Amino acid sequence: MTAIVSRRTVLALGAAAAAEVLLSSTAAAAEPKHRVVVWSEGSAPKNVYPHDINGSVAEGLKPLAEKGWEIVTASINDADQGVSAESLAKTDVLMWWGHKFHGNVKKEHVDAIVDRVKNGGMGFIAMHSAHFSKPLKALLGTNCGWKGGYVEDGSKLELIVKDKKHPINEGISDCTIAHTERYTEPFEIPEPESVVLDGVYIRPDGTKERSRQGFAWTIGKGKVFYFQPGHETYPIFFDANVRKILCNAVEWAGKKS
Ligand code: ZN
Repeated sequence: MTAIVSRRTVLALGAAAAAEVLLSSTAAAAEPKHRVVVWSEGSAPKNVYPHDINGSVAEGLKPLAEKGWEIVTASINDADQGVSAESLAKTDVLMWWGHKFHGNVKKEHVDAIVDRVKNGGMGFIAMHSAHFSKPLKALLGTNCGWKGGYVEDGSKLELIVKDKKHPINEGISDCTIAHTERYTEPFEIPEPESVVLDGVYIRPDGTKERSRQGFAWTIGKGKVFYFQPGHETYPIFFDANVRKILCNAVEWAGKKS
């Protein structure tokens, strides 16, 4: 029973019936209203991510459970590569982390994801090496390469709140990630609707390099966010600031345009 019962209706009912209505209303309120699926490919090193990337990201989304979100993990090793039509149909936001197995993701699933975003308003959040994932490339329509290259040298990252009014930055201040992999500009993407987060790397030799870290687009009816940090040899998805950013991103991406 999901109908909202007015006070007058409750008063008009007998006490026993009213109690029953209130109980069933309470039960209905506990049902999740939104669903986020966190997808990864099982390739992260177990000493850093014992439950893979999806497990760590899902753990960081726990504050959303109190706000009516069901948080689900999925993997390329699941049936239908973790993105069955049935699952996508009831998913509000799909989060994606891949690295080694982009090429294994079947076209039928990519097409279904793109359709759910563009026509169904599902949010899509790509993290780190998922810049080269098939769904992100199909949604943005570009190659999505970081043309300056990729260097895993443990640089420090200063994460900078760029679009101060963006909902993804709510409660977020400039912060630091101790070690990251550097993805160097330029980034082959269509003009974002917002550069949500900027960044400056501090290389091991002390020199600095700017690289944008968070981008937002609206694609058809859906919202898309790309977040650059998240290399699998560093515990970035356990970082409190990163977790808060991703919680905000899920809430933002889950609101239909
Ligand atoms: Zn990486």
